Amino acid sequence: MRSLNSLVSKLWLTIILMVTAVLIILTLVLIFFFRSYVFNTTETILEEDVNRVGEVLLTEHDIDSLGNTSLLQEDNLIILYAGDPLLPLSALDEEIYNRMNTENLTDSTFIIDDLYNSMYMIKTSSLTRYFDENLHIIMYRDLDAVNQSISGITIIMFFTTGILIIGTTIFAFLLLNRITRPLINLKTAAYNTSRGKYKPLEVRSRDEIGELTLAFNKMNRDIKKNIEAVLHEKNLREEIFSSMEEGVLYFDTDAELIYSNAKGNSIYTALSSNSHEKEMFLDNVLNIADTKTPQIERLNMSNHHYQVSYTAVVSDNMTYGTIVLIRDITEIVKTEAMRADFIANVSHELKTPMVMLSGYSEAILDGIVTEPEEVNEMIKIIKDESDRMNRLVNELITIARMDSGSDLMNIEGNDLMGLIKEITMKFKHALHEKEIDLEIDTVSKRVFFDFDYGKIEQVINNLIDNAIRYTEPGDKITLTVRDAEDEVVFSVADTGIGIKEEHQDRIFERFYKVDESRTRGKHGTGLGLYIVSSIIKRHQGKIELYSEPGVGTTFEIILPKNNHE
Ligand code: ADP
Repeated sequence: MRSLNSLVSKLWLTIILMVTAVLIILTLVLIFFFRSYVFNTTETILEEDVNRVGEVLLTEHDIDSLGNTSLLQEDNLIILYAGDPLLPLSALDEEIYNRMNTENLTDSTFIIDDLYNSMYMIKTSSLTRYFDENLHIIMYRDLDAVNQSISGITIIMFFTTGILIIGTTIFAFLLLNRITRPLINLKTAAYNTSRGKYKPLEVRSRDEIGELTLAFNKMNRDIKKNIEAVLHEKNLREEIFSSMEEGVLYFDTDAELIYSNAKGNSIYTALSSNSHEKEMFLDNVLNIADTKTPQIERLNMSNHHYQVSYTAVVSDNMTYGTIVLIRDITEIVKTEAMRADFIANVSHELKTPMVMLSGYSEAILDGIVTEPEEVNEMIKIIKDESDRMNRLVNELITIARMDSGSDLMNIEGNDLMGLIKEITMKFKHALHEKEIDLEIDTVSKRVFFDFDYGKIEQVINNLIDNAIRYTEPGDKITLTVRDAEDEVVFSVADTGIGIKEEHQDRIFERFYKVDESRTRGKHGTGLGLYIVSSIIKRHQGKIELYSEPGVGTTFEIILPKNNHE
């Protein structure tokens, strides 16, 4: 069926059908004309023969002597006189004579077509008017020439048809190569184009097929170029959208999600897990498409804060849907909260010592406390609180500088052992006063590497200061320094009160103090360790805490030797 549908098969069949039809018509026309020709010729000959015989009969006029005339030599002649044959009849004559109705013979011509498988044309002529009795001449001729020529023509036509079929078939095969092969190649190439394979075809001829191939190649190139341009644009758009920090979602007017970038998709998936939130979100999407009024709202979901802005997509007064832009503002919200917290904490931290300062000094000034011992105690408290305020303000300045980025790091080659010696000298008095022993445990005399001298000084300061504050007389502080290949590890360990496990994760937060009532007397601000951890972070270092209540605390600092902020 498939091969019958091919162009060549159709051409081949059409040519064969046409040729066969033409040949059949030609055959029929030829047969018809030939038949007429033979009939006419035979009739003319018979006419002449009958006339000739008639003339002989009229010249002789003696019926009885007819048997001796030249008429005896005539073939295919029957002469009936008074209804009986005058001349001896051959078998064929006899047969024809028997078939004829000899009663009412007139001048006529007719055909008998089933005599000995042959056709005969018979001509009768009456000469009765010249004789006493009825005299009829009957002459006949076979029409075999008609049959013979019909079979001849048929054979010739069959032969011609055969040759033409063979010729047409050969022609069809030649056509297959010249026409259909390039067409089949074009068809395959067109399918390939539809699958995105743009392979040019070889142009083999300069005819219409060649031109079609050229046009196809051009179309292929154009499609490839256009598709590449469209893909490039699409990829670019995709890149832009996927590199966006914001989630982008596009919904049609039925709130069906049509497009989303990666970020938008992850937020929408998270949102979809909460059916109530999702319902509200989609209600907004539909509502905005309806009202065409942009809307911004906040969405809180699994510890994240989002700012969601909805805008209707309108073109030519037609609304196509809603575009939703989702911005993760968790960090901003957190920073806002931290700032508010920070201000509240600072105010609180400053207010407490100020109230105490003013209260105690007022009590002394107003003479409410007069006992020298009590006055001394109060002055000591005033001194403690002033120191704490001083410390707090200094620490706040440090933090503010670090936060603003104005406090640049000054990393350069320094000797850590030199710095430690300097610091321990500073603490000598405080240590002596509190009866605390400080031991430096190291094998190195000099540990030289890149660090910010001032900042690491503050780190060690804060750690030793804490160790002194959170220990009791008789306790011991050990400062260990280990100089490794790529890093320097130093630790400040004390045998003081220790830190409960539940606080250990939080003591590096701003303003985090373990126990307000206990630390107050110890001049705590809750900022010391925050500053320590910030400085260590800026040195790309690490800080480890090992502590057990009642046993002691160790802060271990690991500083890389090649660190750059
Ligand atoms: P503060 O000014 O209150 O000491 P820090 O940030 O330096 O603030 O310390 C935070 C908290 O960590 C302190 O309130 C204290 O409870 C605890 N802490 C710090 N160092 C030690 C230590 N060596 N031993 C026991 N507790 C400590």
